[in-house]
Order: sequence, then C-alpha cells, then structure tokens
Amino acid sequence: MRLSLDSPVRDVDPRVANRQMGLTKKGPPAHEVLSGMGIDTVRQLLHHYPRTHIDRTTVARIRDLSLGQPATVVGRVTKVEKRRTRHNKILVTVSLFDGSAYLQIPFFNQPWKANQFRQGEEVAAWGLVELRGGHRQLKGGEVESLRDEERAIHTRRIIPMHRASEGIAPRTVRELVFFALERLEPVPDPLPAEVVRAEGLPTFDWAIRRIHFPETQEDLARAQERLKFDELFVLELGVGFRKHRVAAQEVGVVHRTDGELIGTFVASLPFELTAGQRRAIDDVSAAMARPHPMNLLLQGDVGSGKTVVALAACLLAVESGHQAAIMAPTEVLAGQHGRNAAALLESMGAVRFAGAARRTAAVPTGQESLLGDEEPTPTLTFGLLTAAVTGQERAAVLEGVRSGEVDLVVGTHALVQEAVGFRDLSLAVIDEQHRFGVHQRMALKGKGASPDVLIMTATPIPRTLALTYYGDLDVAVLDELPAGRQPVETRVVRTAEDRRGAYDVVRKEVHAGRQAFVVCAAIDEDNRLEVKAAEKEAERLATEVFPDLRVNVLHGRMRPAEKESRMDEYRAGRFDLLISTTVIEVGVDVPNATVMLVENAERFGLAQLHQLRGRIGRGAHRSFCFLFDESGPDNELARQRLVAMVRTTDGFELADDDLRLRGEGTLFDIKQSGLPDLKLARLAEDVELVRRARARAFALIEEDPELAAHPALRRELEERFAESIDWLFHS
Ligand code: ADP
Ligand code: MG
Repeated sequence: MRLSLDSPVRDVDPRVANRQMGLTKKGPPAHEVLSGMGIDTVRQLLHHYPRTHIDRTTVARIRDLSLGQPATVVGRVTKVEKRRTRHNKILVTVSLFDGSAYLQIPFFNQPWKANQFRQGEEVAAWGLVELRGGHRQLKGGEVESLRDEERAIHTRRIIPMHRASEGIAPRTVRELVFFALERLEPVPDPLPAEVVRAEGLPTFDWAIRRIHFPETQEDLARAQERLKFDELFVLELGVGFRKHRVAAQEVGVVHRTDGELIGTFVASLPFELTAGQRRAIDDVSAAMARPHPMNLLLQGDVGSGKTVVALAACLLAVESGHQAAIMAPTEVLAGQHGRNAAALLESMGAVRFAGAARRTAAVPTGQESLLGDEEPTPTLTFGLLTAAVTGQERAAVLEGVRSGEVDLVVGTHALVQEAVGFRDLSLAVIDEQHRFGVHQRMALKGKGASPDVLIMTATPIPRTLALTYYGDLDVAVLDELPAGRQPVETRVVRTAEDRRGAYDVVRKEVHAGRQAFVVCAAIDEDNRLEVKAAEKEAERLATEVFPDLRVNVLHGRMRPAEKESRMDEYRAGRFDLLISTTVIEVGVDVPNATVMLVENAERFGLAQLHQLRGRIGRGAHRSFCFLFDESGPDNELARQRLVAMVRTTDGFELADDDLRLRGEGTLFDIKQSGLPDLKLARLAEDVELVRRARARAFALIEEDPELAAHPALRRELEERFAESIDWLFHS
C-alpha cells in the first residue's frame, strides 16, 4: 500500500512504529513518543528534518582502521557469542572478517542481537574504532545485513541524524523516515510551478527525499536550499498577505505636508540636519501623506539623531490639526525626551507647556498657564506624562489630552496601557531602542482610529532582516552620525596598573570640566544585592579613589522622581561622576560626559555594551571608554566581545559580530515578532534566499492577494501561521 503525506506514522511500518525502548521496563511504543513530539503524520515526520548528517559512504579495510576514529566496514560474520559479564549484563559479540583482519562489535543488554546475524552472512558496520583485550572493536556501532542490498539505512551512505527524544532512538526515527519515503506516493509541489522553474529549484518531491537520504553532499545542499526557500516563501507570503490586507482595509489619516512648520523647526535648530535625517524626514512625510496608516521603523545607531526626525513627524500631525504622542520605554528616557523635545521646539517659538512640562524647559513667566491668554497664539501645546507627573498636574495634562488642548504629549509606554483618551491622535512615536515588542503597537491600535506609527530603534540589523523580522513595517535608516563626532576610544582593562590609568583619565577629564559615568553590572535591577553592589562601589570610589571629586549614584530601585532629579543634577553639572547600574543604558543624553568605566564588562552582551558606550561621545569632545574585564582567560566569548568593542564603534558591524558570536536565535526572538518558527532557514544567514523568496512571494500577493487561485498555498499559509493567525488576519 502506498502512503500519502496525511497517512498516520503508525501505518509506515507497524513493527518499527511499535518498537519500545528499555529492556526490563518497557516504555511506550515509538509512535506514541513521536506523537508527544508533535509528529503524527507522514508529513510531520518528513518535516522533522535531520539535525545533521554523517557520511558513512567510504568503506575502510579493517587492517587500516585507526584507533579513536569512526569507520564503516563491510565483512562476513565469523562468530556470534552471547554471555553474561561480571556485572551481570548480557553481552553479545559479533565478529567480522573482511579479508584483511578481524573485528568485534559488542552489544550490551541487547540479547536479540544474537539472533539477528547468521554466521557467514555479509554485513556492514559502523562505529568508533577501539582496542580492547587485544582485539579491534567498533564501539557504539550499527550493524546491518547486506541481504537486502537496497536497504542501506544506517551504514554505507550519508546517514541522517534526526533529533530524537527520551523513549525513542535516532535509529528508530531514521528507519521510519526511510520506510515512509520508500512507500510514499509522488508528492505534488506546493509552490507554483513558475516560481520553482524561475528559481531553478528541484521539485519538492525530490527535495523532501534527499534531505533525509542524500546520495551526495551536493544533493543535500540542493535539497536544503529548496526546502529553505519553501519556508521563507511561505513566511514572506504571510508578511505580504498581512501588509496588503492592512493597506486595503485600514483607513488612516491623510496628513498635509505642504505646511511650513517643519521648515521653521529645521531652520531654528542649532545644527544642520544630516543627509540621512533629511532623507528620513522625507520618507516619513510621504508615508504620513498616504491614506493608509503608516507603520514605519526608523533604524539609527545611538546618537544618529532620531529625535529630530520624530519631532518633525509630530509637527506634521499637529499642523494637520491632530495630536501626536512620543513614548519611551523608561521613565528616565521619557523625561529626557520631554526635555529634548521642549528644548528643540522652544527655539522655534510659540510653544506652550501644559502641566509639568513647563518645568522641563526655561519658560518665561507669564507663559506658564495651560490656558494662558498671551499672544501670539501658540503653534503647539506640549505635555509630559511620566510617573513623576502626579496629582493636579497629571490631571491637567490628561484633561488637555482628552480635550485636544495638548497637541503633543511625551510619556512612557504606560501611555498606551493606561486609559489615556486622546481626542484625535494621528501619530504615535514609539521609542523602543533595542527592546522592540509588537504588543505595544497592538494596544495602541485598539484606541479608536488608526494612527500612523513611527517606531524608533537603535538595534542595527541588516535591512533584509528588518524587513522580514518587523513583518509589515516599512523601514527607514539613519546611516550616518552628525558631523564632528569623534569615535569613542575604547580600551580593555585587566591589570591594577591599567585601572589606575583609567582613574587618572577620569580625573583629568573632570579637571578639564567634563563628566564621567561608572557602570556596575547590576543585570537585574530588582535584585537588592546587585543594587547594593553598585552603592558599595560608589562608596568605595567616593572615599578611596576620588575623594576630591563629586560622586553620586543612580539605580533601578530608586523612585522615578528621584531618578529624574538625580539625572537633572548630573546634566546640570552639579556632580562629576555618576555611578549607575544599567538604568542609563538606554538613550541618556549628556553631551558633556566624556568618560565611561564599565565594571565587569565581560558580563554584558555586545548590544548592551554598544548602547552603554553610546552615552558618551555625544558632544564635540574626545571621549574614552574603559571596559574592565574580570573574566578568566577561559571565557573566550567574553574576550572576543571586548575585542570587537575595541575594534569598531559601528553598530552594524557589532551586530554582525554579535550574530556570529551568539547565533541569531538569541538576538532576534522570532516568537516575539509574531512570525512562525523557521526550521531550516536562518534569516540572518540566508540573506540572499530571503531576498529571492520575498520578491516572489510579494509578486504573487500583488497578483492574487487572497491566494484564491492557489488554495494549497493558502492552506499552507494558514497552517504555518496557526499560532499567529490573528496577526495574519487582523491589524
Ligand atoms: P538618538 O538617535 O540616539 O536618539 P538623539 O536624537 O538623542 O540620538 O541625538 C543625539 C544628539 O545629537 C542630541 O544631543 C541631538 O541634539 C544631537 N543632534 C541630532 N541631530 C544632529 C545634527 N544633525 N547635528 C548635530 N547634532 C545633532
Ligand atoms: Mg534617542
């Protein structure tokens, strides 16, 4: 009987499917164990791709075997012995002769092996070559009869190694796959024939067989390419499907872009925009002018000047008669965004401050009241909503947001979680830095109309990757830093002498009027012990190392208002040295700070170190970063990270290094992206294949948005996105 992809695993070969592991205490049959691994059908079994392959094609002469090496041999069975060992185990020993020498293959606790092979029979064997009691042996071996020459499953070929699990041997999985393929009827190709042909790919039927049992390494590579393409094609099909649907269904705000506000704003800035900033502002304006909601990711390394782009976008919203919001992941950062925005907008003139925001900028008296009646009419009313804003002030800002009085509000992500009712929000700027999550975006969409969304991120990832990983977003990139920035000089410090040298640099810089950061590795801000360590270090530095300097502390367990005021004092230059845990990691902007010492730098990841270092080198002064490495010489990965930090300050380069050192799984949490898992393909590595699959998938969606003419693909799509079906169908 032929099998189809939908046949149950049990029908493949009942003898193998019912095989039980364990000798004395029998476990469940193999098909039940597989079912527990989510494998019930032949389709699922065949999509359980081998984790790796072992080449057992070359047969060696027994006399030529080298100890400690794996080898495949073919010979005649000369003897089969069964006996009990001293430890009361059953030992079956099969002896082989191949014309050159003898070889033994021992099997412990597998008494049935004694009946499996007949004397004089020709067999193939594979295992690790050892010398025991004067005899050559194959350890951990596989033996199979050559009676049926066609059925080389475990030896004499490139062997698939499938992931097994407790209760099932890789050998059993391999046999099931082999027998399934043997009886599988030809499988129709799920991809459109034009795509397969145009891409020069082998058929699905060919590939699904060769990926398990390839005849050559070239076959294997071609089969993998085809099946990776399939995965990526369906993934990109989903991305295109959703993108098309969102664009067609959702009605967004058409912003007017013929106003003067951006021009006035840019002219009032104390610096020239970079070409990248100008390009990004154009991209954002164009997207905001369209009748469909904007979903744009603005990527730019730390310090590349994303805030200016965000403010320009906010001005478009305000000028079109709507409201805008800027949201940051932390209190410190929200406070700072508020301050920056206030300062930058203020030079433009005619900005009114609601509630607490008035304290964040030097506002002339008389302009303080939310409902002030001074002339000229303000262009823009600005509000701040962080946890530090409480009581009546908070109530006033909230009321202003509700009534539409406040045009631009800056706050934490709590803005979207709390029930803040906007009168007419048309633009939400989300500063995610490198903590991107799609969930906030969704929460925001729940609030009435579909506002345009601009997400800012400092995670430098290759464009192809961003396009897929961030699903349906458009991507704009700020790929240059403002002119005049000098790259931070970075050194790794391992000796007491170098540490003193680093302290000297701190003192020298402070005497020159600059400021410094010391970062202690409190990875977990909620952990009392780690925070205590930071406080203790502050104490030590203040009393023993820098009694002549003004030292202060900042950590995650402080109250928001306390953190903010401490940052304010530091920014105002009221102390020289800020000792902090990683709360300063994200976005803090103090251009006068030129030195950073990072304690236990070996504990930080590359992305985090890059973010930390981005806190200095933000002004015109030369800056220095010292990475204290307390790791032993055995921590090779940590050392390589620090080497990378010294070599470059380019975030894209560091991201590549990070990818290389850690693998993509850790950097891009694909689960969080709302996209289905990939089994074979790697977004970061298979960049060219991603590009090809994306182009084909998007062309198909363009032609047939509902996949009406491709019902099989549509089914495949819904199956692959089963866990994120909402993402696919809703916005
Ligand atoms: P990030 O992209 O890290 O959020 P910011 O927007 O905070 O960067 O900008 C970093 C610093 O650079 C700020 O002090 C900002 O005022 C300044 N800046 C922004 N654009 C320019 C520019 N074109 N020229 C000079 N300085 C700029
Ligand atoms: Mg920023």
